[in-house]
Amino acid sequence: MKCPQCKKPVQEEDNNPFLPFCSKRCKMVDLGKWLDGKYVIPDPPHAASPDPTDGDKD
Ligand SMILES: [Zn+2]
Repeated sequence: MKCPQCKKPVQEEDNNPFLPFCSKRCKMVDLGKWLDGKYVIPDPPHAASPDPTDGDKD
Protein backbone atom coordinates (compact mmCIF):
# COMPACT_ATOMS: atom_id res chain seq x y z
CA MET A 1 0.00 0.00 0.00
CA LYS A 2 1.03 3.60 -0.42
CA CYS A 3 0.98 6.47 1.97
CA PRO A 4 -2.13 8.60 1.26
CA GLN A 5 -0.08 11.67 2.00
CA CYS A 6 3.23 11.33 0.20
CA LYS A 7 2.45 8.29 -1.96
CA LYS A 8 5.50 6.47 -0.75
CA PRO A 9 5.35 2.75 -0.10
CA VAL A 10 4.21 2.05 3.43
CA GLN A 11 5.51 -0.80 5.49
CA GLU A 12 2.46 -2.71 6.56
CA GLU A 13 3.82 -3.84 9.86
CA ASP A 14 1.94 -4.33 13.04
CA ASN A 15 4.36 -2.07 14.81
CA ASN A 16 3.69 0.81 12.47
CA PRO A 17 1.50 3.10 14.56
CA PHE A 18 1.08 5.52 11.70
CA LEU A 19 -0.82 3.28 9.29
CA PRO A 20 -2.06 3.94 6.71
CA PHE A 21 0.62 6.60 6.65
CA CYS A 22 4.32 5.98 6.32
CA SER A 23 5.37 8.21 9.15
CA LYS A 24 4.20 10.41 11.95
CA ARG A 25 4.88 13.44 9.80
CA CYS A 26 2.46 12.33 7.11
CA LYS A 27 -0.15 11.46 9.67
CA MET A 28 0.16 14.88 11.23
CA VAL A 29 -0.03 16.56 7.83
CA ASP A 30 -3.23 14.71 7.06
CA LEU A 31 -4.62 15.59 10.45
CA GLY A 32 -3.76 19.19 9.72
CA LYS A 33 -5.86 19.03 6.58
CA TRP A 34 -8.83 17.98 8.63
CA LEU A 35 -8.29 20.74 11.11
CA ASP A 36 -7.82 23.19 8.29
CA GLY A 37 -11.24 22.37 6.92
CA LYS A 38 -9.94 21.11 3.60
CA TYR A 39 -11.86 17.94 4.15
CA VAL A 40 -15.55 18.45 4.56
CA ILE A 41 -17.50 15.99 6.62
CA PRO A 42 -21.01 15.75 5.18
CA ASP A 43 -23.56 16.70 7.76
CA PRO A 44 -26.28 14.10 8.13
CA PRO A 45 -29.77 15.44 7.60
CA HIS A 46 -31.43 16.29 10.82
CA ALA A 47 -34.73 14.52 10.98
CA ALA A 48 -37.37 16.25 12.98
CA SER A 49 -37.70 13.82 15.81
CA PRO A 50 -40.51 14.14 18.33
CA ASP A 51 -39.47 15.26 21.75
CA PRO A 52 -39.48 12.23 24.04
CA THR A 53 -39.96 14.48 27.04
CA ASP A 54 -43.28 15.64 25.67
CA GLY A 55 -45.48 13.51 27.84
CA ASP A 56 -46.86 13.31 31.31
CA LYS A 57 -44.92 10.42 32.72
CA ASP A 58 -44.88 10.07 36.43
ZN1 LIG B 1 4.01 9.43 3.82
